[in-house]
Amino acid sequence: MLLLVSSPSGAGKTSLSRRLVADHLDLILSTSATTRAPRPGEEEGREYYFKSGEEFQAMIAAGDFLEWADVHNHRYGTPRAPVEAALAAGKDVLFDIDWQGAKAIADQMPSDSVRVFVLPPSWSDLSRRLHARAQDSEEIINLRLDRGREEITHWGEYDYVIVNKNFDRAYADLGHIYRAERMKPGRNPWLPEFVQGLAEE
Ligand code: 5GP
Repeated sequence: MLLLVSSPSGAGKTSLSRRLVADHLDLILSTSATTRAPRPGEEEGREYYFKSGEEFQAMIAAGDFLEWADVHNHRYGTPRAPVEAALAAGKDVLFDIDWQGAKAIADQMPSDSVRVFVLPPSWSDLSRRLHARAQDSEEIINLRLDRGREEITHWGEYDYVIVNKNFDRAYADLGHIYRAERMKPGRNPWLPEFVQGLAEE
């Protein structure tokens, strides 16, 4: 299963996603490549693979990305190989990704994809959170808020929508979505043999 989680910057999708992955051994987080600079505390290979414009371009040319997009004047892309390896090993993959990336992946793998959109409870709350995390300049925060206004126009393309008013509640909702989708028969190839075994017992 490919769990695609989008939201405007600051609505909490990264915290929700990281906790879901920490709580589920068979769910891994896709680590994107980006041309933006690391923020304080970010580590190469943990939050992102940080690339120069030239390196990113070379990866595009080599077909290394499942999808890539321009976001906030930088490029972000999903490396293909780790996703394919995870799926081959029977793992699920979570993507913290903007609407363009979610659409590109869902278009390529519609039956495996589940899309979740996280909304902030209010715009003033979102602005407050972006200021509180104190990682970006005022100019970048305004760019993120403007882009967020565009991002939320895509909410109707998603399978599930969570309003992140309370983190624990929102996290529980995300967990329920993941667990319910995980139990769909088509996502459990071992089921026919299991049921056959039951019938023969
Ligand atoms: P940030 O700079 O705050 O880490 O991320 C900015 C935006 O880029 C977020 O909406 C994030 O979900 C999105 N993003 C991160 N990685 C990717 C990716 O690989 N592909 C796409 N299309 N968007 C991404």
